[in-house]
Amino acid sequence: MENIVYKSTRGHGEPVSASYAIVHGIAADGGLFVPQQLPVMDKELSELVDMNYRELAYEVMKLYLTDFSEDELKYCIERAYDDKFDTKAIAPMVHPNGTNILELFHGATLAFKDMALSVLPYLMTTAARKQDLEEEIVILTATSGDTGKAALEGFANVSGVRIIVFYPKDGVSTIQRLQMVTQQGDNTHVVAMKGNFDDAQRSVKEIFTNQDEAVRMKNAGYMFSSANSINIGRLVPQVVYYYWAYLQMVRDRKIQLGDKVNFCVPTGNFGNILAAYYAKAMGLPVGKLVCASNSNNVLTDFFHTGRYDANRQFYITTSPSMDILVSSNLERLIYLVCKEDGAQVQELMDSLRQRGSYTLPMDKSVLEEDFWAEFADEYATDNAIRTIYQKSGYVMDPHTAVAYSVAERYQNETGDDTTMVIVSTASPYKFPTSILQAVEAEVPEDESSLMQKLSEISGTPIPQRVKQVLNSPIRHHRVCEKEKALAEVRGILGL
Ligand SMILES: *Cc1c(COP(=O)(O)O)cnc(C)c1O
Repeated sequence: MENIVYKSTRGHGEPVSASYAIVHGIAADGGLFVPQQLPVMDKELSELVDMNYRELAYEVMKLYLTDFSEDELKYCIERAYDDKFDTKAIAPMVHPNGTNILELFHGATLAFKDMALSVLPYLMTTAARKQDLEEEIVILTATSGDTGKAALEGFANVSGVRIIVFYPKDGVSTIQRLQMVTQQGDNTHVVAMKGNFDDAQRSVKEIFTNQDEAVRMKNAGYMFSSANSINIGRLVPQVVYYYWAYLQMVRDRKIQLGDKVNFCVPTGNFGNILAAYYAKAMGLPVGKLVCASNSNNVLTDFFHTGRYDANRQFYITTSPSMDILVSSNLERLIYLVCKEDGAQVQELMDSLRQRGSYTLPMDKSVLEEDFWAEFADEYATDNAIRTIYQKSGYVMDPHTAVAYSVAERYQNETGDDTTMVIVSTASPYKFPTSILQAVEAEVPEDESSLMQKLSEISGTPIPQRVKQVLNSPIRHHRVCEKEKALAEVRGILGL
C-alpha cells in the first residue's frame, strides 16, 4: 500500500503525515491539507459489495490514513459506527416514488455531520498519541448549525481535548440551537456570535493562522485544532458513504456492478461533494456530481462562469446549513484544477480575502467533466417537499429538498438518464416548521407540538434524541460580537 502524505493547498511547508494533518487541522500557511496524490481503491467492487459499513470504512480510510496501524484504525471505526446510529445500515438508502435517497442523518445529532464527527474524535486522539503531543487540544469550530452539535457530541468528555463552538446567533433553527446550548460535558463551550456563518468561519480561521497566538497557547499548554471540514479527518470518512451508497444500489438491484451513478449533493462548504469527487477519483463509477445550492448561490455562479464572487446579498433560508458565501473546501478543488500549483492557489485565495472574489485562470470548462450546478430558491424548495410528500408520503428536510429540486432540473435540462442518487443530509425533525409550512399543514406554536404534528403527517416516530433535547436544561449562555472571538476563546481558557 502506498504511503500517502499531505501538503498545503498553498504550497508552503514540507509534506506531513495524516496524523499530523488531523491534529493540526489547517496548514501553517492558511492552506488546507490535501493528499499528495489521491489513492486508488485496491479492491474490486465485487469484493466490497457484501461488506458492512465498518468493514467498508476500513477499506476506504486505510488508503488515506496510511500512518495509522490496522489496529488503530479499526479501533476508531468500531467505536464510531455503533449503536449511536439508529439503524444497522448506518446510512440507509431509500427509494420513495422511484427515487434513490441516501439518508445520512441516522447518527446522534440527526445530520450528516455525524458521519464524520462520530469518528473524528477517535482519529484525533489516536493521532495526538502518535504525534507525542503534550498540549491539550482545543477544538475551535464554526458552525452553520449541524457541525457544532455533532462535534460537541463527539468530543464531549474526551480527555485531553476541549471544544469551543461558535454559531451564528440568529442563523440556526430552534432545535439546532437547543441541541447545542443543552450540551453536557465539562470540556464543551458554546458561543452565539452576532453575525452569520461566514463571520464565524472567518474568525475561527483567523485564530488558527495567528502565529503569535499559537505561541501564546503553546506556552499555556494548549494547541488549536479544527473539527470543521477543513480538517482532512472530516473529509476522509465522508468518502466511505459514496462507496456505501453505490454498493447498496447494487444490492437493491437498482444498478449493476460497474454502472455509473450521478450524485446530487446539497452543498454549503463543499465538503460533502468534495468527498464524492475523491470517491470518483479513487475509481468509483460516478458520472456527474450535481452541486445543489439554495438562494446563496455563489457556487452555482462559480460553476457557470469560472468567477467566484462572494460580494452579494446574504440570505437566511430554510436550509440554514447551506447559508454560506465563502465555501472553504472549494480551495481543495481549485488546487487540483490549478494542477497543484500552490502559488496560484495562494493568489486566488488572497484575492478572495482582499476583494471577496477571484476568477479561475483557465477556462471553466475544466469543471464541466465532473460537475453541474444549479440552485433552488425558497419557493422551489417548498415545492419539492410538498410534491414528494403528496406523491409518496415521504417527508424530506429542506436541505435534501434543495438537492431533490436541482436533481430534477438537471435531468430535465440535460436529458442525462444515468441513475441519480440524492444525498439527504438532515432529519426532517431538525426543521419541523419549514416542513409543515411547505406541506400546508397546521403549524403549532411550541416545539413539542411541532414534533408531534410532524410525526403524525410523516408516520414516523419522534427521534429519542429530539425528545431529550426538548427536556434538557440550557447550560450555555455565552454571546459574543463578531470581532471578539479571540477574546472569548482566551476567556474560556482562563488566559
Ligand atoms: C453541513 C450541511 C450541508 C452542507 O455540507 P457541506 O459539506 O458544507 O457542503 C448540507 N446540509 C446539511 C443538513 C448540513 O448540515
